[in-house]
Amino acid sequence: MPATRFAPSPTGYLHLGHAYSALTGWQMARAHGWRWLLRIEDIDRARCRPEFTDAIFEDLAWLGLDWERPVRVQSEHMAEYEAALGRLQDMELLYPCFCSRREIRAEVAAISGAPHLWNGADGPVYPGTCRGLSPDERDTRKAVGVAFALRLDVAAALRQTGPLTWCELGEGALPARPELLGDVVLARKDIPTCYHLSVTVDDARQDITHVVRGQDLKAATPVHRLLQALLGLPAPVYHHHPLLAGPDGKRYAKRDHALTLRSLREAGNSPAEVAAMTGVPVEA
Ligand code: GLU
Repeated sequence: MPATRFAPSPTGYLHLGHAYSALTGWQMARAHGWRWLLRIEDIDRARCRPEFTDAIFEDLAWLGLDWERPVRVQSEHMAEYEAALGRLQDMELLYPCFCSRREIRAEVAAISGAPHLWNGADGPVYPGTCRGLSPDERDTRKAVGVAFALRLDVAAALRQTGPLTWCELGEGALPARPELLGDVVLARKDIPTCYHLSVTVDDARQDITHVVRGQDLKAATPVHRLLQALLGLPAPVYHHHPLLAGPDGKRYAKRDHALTLRSLREAGNSPAEVAAMTGVPVEA
């Protein structure tokens, strides 16, 4: 049976933007007879807190949503991400990167004349500094304990897969150009996985056929498509919905404390009133 999912990170309380995303997927699932699954994306142990996970369950249930148990919690599946990483390593598609964010920014700034491309997530497109390090140089740095991330050599990966497309609902097949994001990090210095790898492995493990999520993640989808092709995983169809904006035109974010679902609830709003604020038409 087709399935979609809602995959929040427990780094704060859910806000109206989350409710919009959850209700959009939920409505699509109900309209088409799909499963609607929940996943807790908590690989970043420093930013995630168990009380926010509990609050996610409580707030979604209050909104009137229900989901299958057990819920997939990413921090319980680190061995699976490690195994995926091992496969990519065996394919010789990963390399250690010893750069700090500051070094990357400085290096990118020094490349004059070239447009500074943003990788869609947390910084400029990586200029490839560590890609060409010799095995000896890598060993030396590791031996003295320099922390390193593992990056995907995207050009080498694309040579193995050939050109790829991915499917956005309503737009059909789109060319996947993961090279626009550069050699993304697949294992962070502090965590032996990353968002891209975990989300790709999990969508396959949970048999997700339709990924419904915010527009802000559309740019990352070609990377997910590339990882699916490399790891032999099925490719879901995607629906990237617009991000809900407040009356001031700004999208909701975790800083908008007043608009957390629990504060709206405490202010006396009913679940139906909160659903109406998102604009998602929810059938009774
Ligand atoms: N955990 C991500 C977030 O909270 C969503 C990931 C996804 O839907 O692919 O923004």
